[in-house]
Amino acid sequence: MFSRILIANRGEIALRIIRAAKQLGLETVCVYSTVDADGPWLEYADRTFCIGPGPAADSYLRIDRIISAAEIANVDAIHPGYGFLAENAHFAEVCRDCHIEFIGPSPEAMGILGDKISCRKMAKSARTPIFPGSPGEIEEVDEAVKIASKIGYPVIVKASAGGGGRGMRICRDEAELLSNIGVAQKEAEASFGNGAVYLEKYLESARHIEVQVLGDKHGNAIHLYNRDCTSQRRHQKLIEEGPAPGVDPKIRDMVAKSAAALIRKVGYAGAATVEFLMDRDQKFYMLEVNTRIQVEHPVTEMITGVDIVRASIMIAAGEPLEHQQKDIAINGHAIECRINAEDPDRDFMPQAGLVEIFSPPGGFGVRVDSHVRPGYRIPPNYDSMIGKLIVHGANRAEAIARMQVALNEFRIGPIRTTIPLHQKLLKHQQFIDADFDINYVERWMQNESDKSS
Ligand code: ADP
Repeated sequence: MFSRILIANRGEIALRIIRAAKQLGLETVCVYSTVDADGPWLEYADRTFCIGPGPAADSYLRIDRIISAAEIANVDAIHPGYGFLAENAHFAEVCRDCHIEFIGPSPEAMGILGDKISCRKMAKSARTPIFPGSPGEIEEVDEAVKIASKIGYPVIVKASAGGGGRGMRICRDEAELLSNIGVAQKEAEASFGNGAVYLEKYLESARHIEVQVLGDKHGNAIHLYNRDCTSQRRHQKLIEEGPAPGVDPKIRDMVAKSAAALIRKVGYAGAATVEFLMDRDQKFYMLEVNTRIQVEHPVTEMITGVDIVRASIMIAAGEPLEHQQKDIAINGHAIECRINAEDPDRDFMPQAGLVEIFSPPGGFGVRVDSHVRPGYRIPPNYDSMIGKLIVHGANRAEAIARMQVALNEFRIGPIRTTIPLHQKLLKHQQFIDADFDINYVERWMQNESDKSS
């Protein structure tokens, strides 16, 4: 096992990793930027290093400075958390060259799954369901037209190296496809340094369902069932829950197994999430694989009892998985609300500044993962998520009721947060019935604003 790890991240996920590391008896080292100098999580680290000013490009993304800190502190491994360098294969490679274990997959596995075309090919051979589409890169426009007319419009042209919702174009007919392909290739080349694009069927109405998986360095891979992240705004997840409500257990298990098969095939070591869209007939299509710990991992921890951050550290240290597939069962239902420092009444304007009041809810089945405390000043430089409220119940109805009470107890001020939005969503009939698709939140918000104007 390691004796000391460095955490190349900040905020709630830095705190989450510190907790897991300490429970494993490890020392923790944190790097931070000048605007995070008073970050409450730093108090719990054994050692801290300032690595630069507020802008992430000058601190949390500076591989040279992070590696310097790691070498001075003599750590065995680096946990990247999510965001920043978590899916940067070059960083994983530099860690390897410096004989520091990267707590995550190998740069090779990251490369295969991070490229959408090679990920699709791997998925196909692992029998993970994918969208109908082009077998590989589109080279000729004629070829795209042929495939599109076979699978039917609408289709979506996607950059193989795309990410963060960029590099995608929906085409509703042949004319749109013809005018989009060349532009998409040029754009992909300019934005990602890789002009490869491919084509797949575009699903108008779908739910976002993802499978949490774990693989180790001994060729074992298991799944921890699924989460539903259909409640989104501008492709940003707001609420996540697990297990995904209403999915036929047979289909659920088949898809989850296929996700584990995919990472086994890649020789993946670490935690990953295989994301899918599900249509009204409960057909699943893989979107992409996230090769890191995700924000919503606590949902799965609550229903399976598996500490995913602990698992990621142990896997990197070369330990075999602590659980076999037969040990994993779903217990009850969990829901997570992302608490963002944003004003839902003013177009989600980010709310930097002093948090005077921070009084989290508690009680049976309530978990709050947050680095915030009264007197904390939210810097304007980073993601606006200041915490996650997670509840667990015997079933979905109990979890919803528990979440409603917990949201009503939560006091944060004077900054505005997304709590009022969650309070409304938890009462939304489409959410309660799980009769929703990834556009329902935006449709509902549009209706509300039409009504008030
Ligand atoms: P990125 O890596 O940029 O996040 P994804 O492939 O995950 O790209 O797609 C981002 C979002 O775009 C998805 O969450 C989904 O809402 C939408 N999307 C992508 N592909 C499709 C598709 N084939 N049909 C419908 N929506 C899609």
